[in-house]
This record gives sequence, C-alpha cells and structure tokens, in this order.
Amino acid sequence: MNDAASITDALSHGRGGELSADDLAGFLDECELDGGAIDGALGEAARAVTERIYGKSVYVRGLIEISNICKNDCLYCGIRKSNKNCVRYRLDADTIVSCADEGYELGFRTFVLQGGEDVYYTDEVMCDIIGRIKSSHPDCAVTLSLGERSRDSYRRMRDAGADRYLLRHETANPDHYAQLHPASMSYENRIQCLYTLRELGYQVGCGFMVGSPYQTNRHIANDLCFIRDFYPDMCGIGPFVPHHETPFASFPSGTVEKTCRLLSIIRLLCPRVLLPSTTALGTIHPRGREMGILAGANVVMPNLSPVGVRKQYELYDNKICTGEESAQCRDCLEMRVRSVGREIVTDRGDVKK
Ligand code: SAH
Repeated sequence: MNDAASITDALSHGRGGELSADDLAGFLDECELDGGAIDGALGEAARAVTERIYGKSVYVRGLIEISNICKNDCLYCGIRKSNKNCVRYRLDADTIVSCADEGYELGFRTFVLQGGEDVYYTDEVMCDIIGRIKSSHPDCAVTLSLGERSRDSYRRMRDAGADRYLLRHETANPDHYAQLHPASMSYENRIQCLYTLRELGYQVGCGFMVGSPYQTNRHIANDLCFIRDFYPDMCGIGPFVPHHETPFASFPSGTVEKTCRLLSIIRLLCPRVLLPSTTALGTIHPRGREMGILAGANVVMPNLSPVGVRKQYELYDNKICTGEESAQCRDCLEMRVRSVGREIVTDRGDVKK
C-alpha cells in the first residue's frame, strides 16, 4: 500500500493498523504537496469518528501550572534550568488546592497539575495535595504532569488518588530525542516511565511537538506507530513554538495545517483516544483550537493557575491565556467550542472503553 488515496481510505475505514512506518512517512510527504484535499478528507473522517464515540461533547481539564522550577534542561523549553532570565515561582499546597476549589465551582471535574521537575514536590508534598483535592472533590480526576519520577514515586502518588499522568514521549526516535534533550536524559527512561505508569493503573498520555527542530516525516511516522501500538488514553500534540531564551530560539514554529493533519491521523489510528486541542495551537493561530476540534480533538485545557504567575510559566514565546481569570478562560473556550457546533460538558471525561 503506498498511494495517498489508498492510505487515506485505510485510515478513514479503521484499517490504519495495516500501515507501515514507510507508508505513513510517504503519506505525510504527499499531504504536504497536495494543497489540502487529503487534509479535508482526513478531517471529515476524524470528525465523524470523534462524534460517533464522544458525541458533541468536548471535555475540559483545568490546568494548574504548579511550578516553573526545573532541574532539566530540555533544549526547546522556556523554563529549562539554563534560562537564567526566567523568573521562577512555585505554588504551595494551599494555593494549588484553592485553584482546584475555584475550578470545581466553575464546572471542572478534572485538574491537571503540571510543572517543571521541581524537587520541592517530594512524594509527601504531592500525596498531601492529591489527597486534599480528592477528599474535597471525590467526583474529580487528578491528572499529574510532573515529568520523570521513580516507579516508587509514581506508585505512592497513585495510591494517594492520582488518576492520570501526562508524559509526552516527545519523539519516538532515540537519535532525535538526543537532539532535543541534554545527555543526562534518555529516550529509554522516558518510554519506560510510560509503561510503568500504565502498569500502576494510571490513565496515561503521551505525545509530541509538531515541527520540533530536526524533526522529519520519518520521525513523525515513528511517533504515529508508537502511539498506535501503545494506544495511550490521552495524546497531547501541539506545534513547537520557539522560546527566545533557548538554543532553539531561531527555529520556526510548527504549522497549524500539520498539527491538524496529525490530530486527524491520530484520531483515526486510535479512535477512543482523548485528544486535546492545545494552547500552543491557539498561540500560532487565533482560531487554532477551533481548527483542532474540527480536525478530531475533543479536549480543551483552560488555565486555572493564579493570574499572578501565568506569564512566568512560559514554555514558549507569546503563550496565550496568561492575562485572564480562570472564569474568563473557561467562558472564552466555551464560546469557541460552541462556534464549531460542540458543547463543553461538566464531566470527568474518562476515556470511553
Ligand atoms: N516537566 C513536565 C511538563 C513539561 S511541559 C514533563 O517533563 O512532562 C509540557 C509539554 O510542553 C512538554 O512535554 C513539551 O512537549 C511541551 N513544550 C515544551 N516546550 C515547548 C515549546 N517550546 N513549544 C511547544 N511545546 C513545548
């Protein structure tokens, strides 16, 4: 199988499992040459699949950016350790719990605690925070996005009540991984963490940046095969956006077209996956998040962080949603989701099994 029409057909009819990495790499090349017709067909098929499984519902996750202090030095990331001009902050347990309380009043039933790899958040500190949120809001899911930790740490946080974990694999190619990360980090450990998390009973999310430096369509084909085989519960993909204080400052951003194309392909390869339309997508295009939903995404993640620290959680330049109060952020997304004929729901938004 190698022509674009038969690959589009396979993807659209639940036969994506038959495609090889070669097929997918060639297909991605073709999509770039054809002027949007394939993207249109993929988007339509992906939207139909999304609505068949999730109806008109779009799930919301309240994102709480708990700290921008990080011991890692990922070359793409604005809060990397080497960025000496980053004004650092961390939220204490009371502040995080009150962000979740505020979110609950606004209809959120999932909270995502995301941050740099900040050693302040020991297992004791995290278990206390998780336990407090779960005991005040037992009907809510707690999602963590705190990077790589030990198996024991993941286990303790799971025992404390954490339900889900987001850890983008970043790239499924070890050489490319090494181009994006310092030598102290390894592809093998990243992937091992994902398997460990799954084994411990978390709902697990992986994902990658579209248009990251040195990324080729062959790399992306490997990402797609990894995602298809791992079949995560969630998959976070958004465009790479440069940050001026990183070694990748002068690399171009990923594009809306390619991000939407990949959202559609991932939806077709993994029909039940929870797929966010990301803030990064909204950053590179004023209607990026709406376009992501039309391409097959079914999750949005409004910001619940205290307004005073939002600008400091600057993973990339020009990040949107840094000025508004949580309620405004939610209302804005509600309106955007409505504008594409969908509805935000008050629901934990678990993956449909
Ligand atoms: N420390 C956590 C959270 C990282 S931030 C962890 O290691 O998982 C969440 C995601 O933001 C990252 O996984 C990365 O894919 C994305 N990100 C970081 N820098 C970015 C940039 N410059 N452009 C777009 N996305 C970026």
